[in-house]
Amino acid sequence: MEYYSSHISKLIEELSRLPGIGAKTAGRLAFHIINMPEEQVQSIANAMVEAKKNVRYCKECFTLTDNELCPICKGKGRNHKMIMVVENTRDLAAYEKTGKYNGVYHVLHGAISPMLGISPNDIKLKELIERLKGEVEEIIIATNSSVEGETTAMYISKLVKPLGVKVTRIASGVPVGGDLEYIDEMTLYRALEGRTEL
Ligand code: ZN
Repeated sequence: MEYYSSHISKLIEELSRLPGIGAKTAGRLAFHIINMPEEQVQSIANAMVEAKKNVRYCKECFTLTDNELCPICKGKGRNHKMIMVVENTRDLAAYEKTGKYNGVYHVLHGAISPMLGISPNDIKLKELIERLKGEVEEIIIATNSSVEGETTAMYISKLVKPLGVKVTRIASGVPVGGDLEYIDEMTLYRALEGRTEL
């Protein structure tokens, strides 16, 4: 038996597909949405569709951006010989917020995880190696300090070092398993300053 209108049931079903949203939260959100002014609901729906339609990968660093090149890759004052490798665009944003990093980035969009079946081919690794054909002096690996992040760091190091590029890893001041985006700017800055060569 349907307890709700079929539209509400559908809305709950769709919302519960989102990460971190269980059936209970989806139900609460659905009823909240029903009670919102229609323009506001429209505005949320539009923002979702527009973001999905217009956001793309920067052709150089693969961060999510609105244009062919992201503002960082386009930036004149950035040192393009130094590439910091991060797992996702949120991590990039965390480092940008420190305002202390002057190089460019490379966004992997994930980390290697044999457990989850994520192989090196599933992340933007080939694209990183491709970039090393240009003039690159240092690769700073800033993947998370989780098992996946460490596995990815080792993998990249083995791949890149034979190419004669300096490979460093951010200091382990970053708590184990900690998501980079939740760490304060000072800690990130120290992790960057204290990086060691792999
Ligand atoms: Zn870019």
